[in-house]
Amino acid sequence: MLTLRRRVVDGRAFHLRVLAGLLFLMWAISGGGLHAAAQTAGKGPTIVVTFTVLHDLVRNVAGPQADLRLLVPAGAEVHEWELTPRNFVDLEEADIVFANGLNLEQWIPQARAVAGPGVPIVFVAERSGVPIRPILIGDKAGDPDPHLWMDARAAAAYVEAVRDALASLDPDRAEMYERNAARFSEELSALHAEMLEAFAALPPQSRVLITSEAAFGYFAAAYGFEHDGIWGINAEEEGTPQQMIRIIDIVRERRPAAVFWESTVSDQYVRSVADETKTAVAGPLFVDSLPPDPEKASYIGMMRANTRLLVEALSGPDASES
Ligand SMILES: [Zn+2]
Repeated sequence: MLTLRRRVVDGRAFHLRVLAGLLFLMWAISGGGLHAAAQTAGKGPTIVVTFTVLHDLVRNVAGPQADLRLLVPAGAEVHEWELTPRNFVDLEEADIVFANGLNLEQWIPQARAVAGPGVPIVFVAERSGVPIRPILIGDKAGDPDPHLWMDARAAAAYVEAVRDALASLDPDRAEMYERNAARFSEELSALHAEMLEAFAALPPQSRVLITSEAAFGYFAAAYGFEHDGIWGINAEEEGTPQQMIRIIDIVRERRPAAVFWESTVSDQYVRSVADETKTAVAGPLFVDSLPPDPEKASYIGMMRANTRLLVEALSGPDASES
């Protein structure tokens, strides 16, 4: 069933890829990138954001007048996204583009070509000043891990980078960006404190977080978890026999109360690990995309949903026995 669905999705992805390629070619031939820099008075800038998590952070700073566009929709895989015809239009109309950077968006060179040389692309992770951690395992081990936003303090640093970029693009509204960022940063620091308090309920030996993508390095460091994944990052091959054998050994040794999958990947691999090790499965955790549920579809909502799930799943019977 899962395999079948995956095949259908792959077929569609292939057609979209061909379509995007053709569009890119047509755009290149027509001498594209003639970007209209002039902004209509009263209307905010046209801001293009690569993925949902960052979109929510930018939305909180940019205010209601901004024309905010999103490239990778909720639930979709950000690492290996293929630009759609709609993305081409949005990028051509952009005054500024916000991306995570650190190669989260592997397709950013194409986005840059479409947006044109006059349009700034702000890589917030790289501008945040947060110390970069390496990818833990797999083909890309040692490369920068792009998932900084899983630490709420890093998300606050993203907000400052967004504020500064918007203020220099649109100085008339600098004060508003400053105000919005200050208010939102307070909410983020309250969130960070709330999460620390929630996780304090978990004894240290229960704080073992095994996921599909090992995307929780920053999260684990911030909130006191030991972390590993089946694979290092979603841009590499997923669920190979070597990956499965390695993680099954670790689960047998560390005995977490549950193992987790994330919303943008298949749960089939983590279910095999769980079957093999007689461990509970819990999920989805949200990392690369906000939850689809409108009540949780914000950065703060996502972090709270993850916190609730982790506390619930890791306070399992194994935790109280050990
Ligand atoms: Zn990821």
